[in-house]
Amino acid sequence: MKAVTFHGPGHVRVETVEDPRIQEPADAIVRVTTGAICGSDLHLYHGTIPGLLPGSVIGHEYVGVVEEVGAQVTAFRPGDRVVGAFHVACGKCGSCRRSLYNQCQHGGVLGYGVAFGNLQGTQAEYARIPYADYTLRKVPEGLSDEQALFSGDILTTAYGAVINSGLRPGESAAVIGCGPVGIMAVQSALSLGASRVYAIDLVKERTDLASQLGAVPVPSAEVNVMSKMNELTGGEGADVVIEAVGGSKTLQLAFQLVRGGGCVSAVGVTAEDTFSYPLMNSLTKDITFRIGLANIHRDIDATLSLVRGGRIDPTVVVSHRLPLDQAPEGYRLFDQRQANKVLLKL
Ligand code: NAD
Ligand code: ZN
Repeated sequence: MKAVTFHGPGHVRVETVEDPRIQEPADAIVRVTTGAICGSDLHLYHGTIPGLLPGSVIGHEYVGVVEEVGAQVTAFRPGDRVVGAFHVACGKCGSCRRSLYNQCQHGGVLGYGVAFGNLQGTQAEYARIPYADYTLRKVPEGLSDEQALFSGDILTTAYGAVINSGLRPGESAAVIGCGPVGIMAVQSALSLGASRVYAIDLVKERTDLASQLGAVPVPSAEVNVMSKMNELTGGEGADVVIEAVGGSKTLQLAFQLVRGGGCVSAVGVTAEDTFSYPLMNSLTKDITFRIGLANIHRDIDATLSLVRGGRIDPTVVVSHRLPLDQAPEGYRLFDQRQANKVLLKL
């Protein structure tokens, strides 16, 4: 089959590799019909995530059709249209029983290297999906590939970040970073009842898009974020802050923007080991800090319902639709911020 493979920083190729096959009885093989390049794939592309062996198949956003199932798979049959979580979970271990699917003791992230379970990715004609009964969902009736796709990753990541922030209806949210994840955090916060959402990004087109969706734009290359946010919130700060960039710089900003008693909820991925925690500020301002990998299995049914109900349109982020063969060009465009979100059509 054809697949996107990694060959060191900045080098991805489309190559012919061996077809995946059922290895465990809980596996399914999915014929991918639409995939995407995620902001998290860019960290691989930049070489900041160690442990990805050259030649590995990458990618983890996928919609497709079940081709084959292992003997233990009961929820799916060949021919079912499915969307899958980017991380896999067994559904049975202690973590999964506590709904901490991102902490599954047998879990991993598709196409993210040895540190994440050494699973092959989904930017390919076919993908092996472990623990299919838990990792996959049927695409709800009436939803296109593009509408369902992001529930497997960025939409549910963003929605989960808002849930983790404890946002209550009527409260305000600041979203730092208006890439695809941030845009979906804007949509999620509004659908969960936020009274105002402040959308912060260096790229004006991105805060413009957030503004079209109902957010208050804060283009951070043009305005001083602190003084603008002070002006917008009457000096109080936002009730919750969603960090959707990654790294210490935007985390520090998040702590500055949140009101006393509020919550910073971060999903941006970083390879930085530590950051300087604003201890005194957090103590005196009574700030809650949440950070973590997305817990897709926990929230995917909610986001699919919100999309199906017309409350969230995740397709607004899509800027490019390319055939799989052009994936290297897709990576280049996405990396250089010439593309907002690249789909790979098979
Ligand atoms: P992206 O790279 O497309 O978007 C990042 C955005 O941040 C861009 O619009 C960029 O202009 C903006 N930005 C960069 N520096 C900034 C700054 N100093 N101030 C304001 N804005 C700034 O990525 P994405 O696909 O939107 O994903 C966002 C982050 O979420 C990535 O780090 C990605 O790896 C992560 N992510 C995490 C999970 C998870 O499980 N926690 C899942 C999916 C994605
Ligand atoms: Zn991702």
